[in-house]
Amino acid sequence: MTGKEIRARFLRYFQERGHAVVASSSLIPHNDPTLLFTNAGMNQFKDCFLGLEKRDYVRACSSQKCVRAGGKHNDLENVGRTARHHTFFEMLGNFSFGDYFKKEAIAFAWEFLTRDLGLDKDRLYVTVYQDDDEAADIWHLQEGVPRERIYRFGEKDNFWSMGDTGPCGPCSEIFWDNGPGTGCGSPTCAVGCDCDRYMEIWNNVFMQFNRSADGTLTPLPKPSVDTGMGLERICTVMQGVTSNYDTDLLQGIIQFVARLSGKQYGADERDSVSMRVIADHARAVTFLICDGALPSNEGRGYVLRRIMRRAARHAKMLGFAEPILYRTVDAVNTLLGEAFPELLERESYIKKVILAEEERFAETLDRGLAILNDEVANLKKSGQTVLPGEAVFRLYDTFGFPVDLTADIIAAEGMTVDEDGFALAMERQRNQARENWKGSGEEGIAEVYKSLHGQGLRSIFTGYDEQTTYGVVS
Ligand code: ATP
Ligand code: MG
Ligand code: MG
Ligand code: MG
Repeated sequence: MTGKEIRARFLRYFQERGHAVVASSSLIPHNDPTLLFTNAGMNQFKDCFLGLEKRDYVRACSSQKCVRAGGKHNDLENVGRTARHHTFFEMLGNFSFGDYFKKEAIAFAWEFLTRDLGLDKDRLYVTVYQDDDEAADIWHLQEGVPRERIYRFGEKDNFWSMGDTGPCGPCSEIFWDNGPGTGCGSPTCAVGCDCDRYMEIWNNVFMQFNRSADGTLTPLPKPSVDTGMGLERICTVMQGVTSNYDTDLLQGIIQFVARLSGKQYGADERDSVSMRVIADHARAVTFLICDGALPSNEGRGYVLRRIMRRAARHAKMLGFAEPILYRTVDAVNTLLGEAFPELLERESYIKKVILAEEERFAETLDRGLAILNDEVANLKKSGQTVLPGEAVFRLYDTFGFPVDLTADIIAAEGMTVDEDGFALAMERQRNQARENWKGSGEEGIAEVYKSLHGQGLRSIFTGYDEQTTYGVVS
């Protein structure tokens, strides 16, 4: 069953049970300053849970574009390390806004997995929040899941929050056993272990509270349900593989990159890691730019830039001398253009933005890498393992190496970066810049920008064939 078929099956299952099929919202959250990127299916329904917005349905389902590369949910460092984390992924979800609650949510999830998809119950496990006896009883008495397959965990695993504030509640999760021979191999490995063996596939959140900035929990107007299942993970299960990267959704891009490079995926581990990272990042970059993000030096744009530069460096490692990331847009769009037609509409714009950033970084990537290699060689000679902050800063400032890129490169040598030293060097440069500005006549200009900003100057998106322009938004 392809990713496309699984997405359709999921939406059809819930549509047949009275859920409105709602399109994915943008990856760039509008009107929510608490969020860097859309990180879950429930984001677009936040106000429905809070009782602030009424829609003409009380049940919904969707396949939501998500990016977890910053903020509360950040998986950037997990990409390449695990077989189940991406920066961009699709979250399948069903939602109840004050309509059904725990009993129905659990029944739907179990029926969809074990009857519609036909999964083997002996490879499934469930978890509940530590004192949620009600959910544990529903799993056991209503669905017949043996008590010993029901685990109880605390706040960290089984109490879901969108961010530091907002709707939240206890949750119940479903795990799939990828089988012996996968994961860490420890004899004590079990559900809850951070390795790839027991893979979390579906989270059912019983939305009951709103968390305010001071941490207090206020009950929501009506108990609600928010669920999220990673499409790539359920594809792994359904396609009988043990890594998301072996599903059709990722292989389509990996094989495209392999062909371009003239190398075979799986032949060499380092090359394969690079192909996986590029495939992951290609999706994130394509979707983020499609939704209006642009590489820049701060905020969302800097997260995008960091992802692009990591991908560019892996392309270099694979032996590409010319930009290739912009070409992966074709592979992404072949796989996902039908489900997300906006990708096809903006294809040439997306490619232009990626190519410009690739070309810009190519100018400094080689020189930066050469300098970094020298630094590493010197450290090795003197038996040290921490790259001084000054060097990290120079790579950042002169060669456009984000700190996490430098850290990622030298991690392969067992080395780390001096983050405090970097922060100091950065601070020193800021002070220097401020000194240089004094008396230059430019302070007035800064004041003009500040006041414009106060009046609502923001970047506004004016269309996909031109760059983002700036204007006063009323
Ligand atoms: P994990 O513990 O594996 O990091 P999570 O508990 O952070 O997952 P949730 O916030 O519960 O994830 O999100 C709901 C579902 O979305 C997960 O059960 C999983 O199937 C999927 N998911 C979460 N993060 C990712 C990711 N980075 N890449 C792919 N799928 C993901
Ligand atoms: Mg996570
Ligand atoms: Mg989890
Ligand atoms: Mg979870």
